Amino acid sequence: MAEPSEELERELVIDVSRLDPEGEILEGEVDCVDLDEELVKPFGGVRYRLRAQAIGSELLVSGRLEQDFELVCSRCGRDFDTTIVVDDFAESYELDEKTSEIVLTSDVRDSIILQLPSYPVCDEACAGIEMESAMPADDRWNALDKIEEQRAERNQNHGKS
Ligand SMILES: [Zn+2]
Repeated sequence: MAEPSEELERELVIDVSRLDPEGEILEGEVDCVDLDEELVKPFGGVRYRLRAQAIGSELLVSGRLEQDFELVCSRCGRDFDTTIVVDDFAESYELDEKTSEIVLTSDVRDSIILQLPSYPVCDEACAGIEMESAMPADDRWNALDKIEEQRAERNQNHGKS
C-alpha cells in the first residue's frame, strides 16, 4: 500500500546560514504554481534542481525547473498533458550579515508561468477541428468564435453603408 501522498512544501527557502560555502545542489518539489484557470491546470509541484552558492554579498541560484500542466489545445480544443521546463533559471539575491534565509518561491513560480505558451497546441501537427461532429462540444472556444463572427458581420455592414 502506498502511503497517502505527502504534502508538498509550498515555499522554497534557502537557509543561508547553513549553506555550504562551496555551493550546494538543492533538489525537490515545491507546490507554488497556484493558477486557477479553466484552460491552464497545474498538477503536482515544481520539480527543481538548483545550484546555490554565496559569492561575496550575493547568493547565486541557477538550474532547472519543471511543472506538469493540463492545457487546452488552441487548435482542436482537446485537453492534453505537458511539462513546462525552464532549464536556464538564474537569479541572484543580495546578502548581508542579517540575511538568514532567501525565499525563492515567487521567482520560481514566475519563471514557470512566463514559459507557458500563449497558444498551446497538443501536437505541432494538430490540424485543428476537422470533424466537428466527432469533437466534444467545447463552449469555451465557441464563445471566442462568436465574438469573431460578430466582429466580421459588423465590419461587413460598415463596408456597405
Ligand atoms: Zn490539438
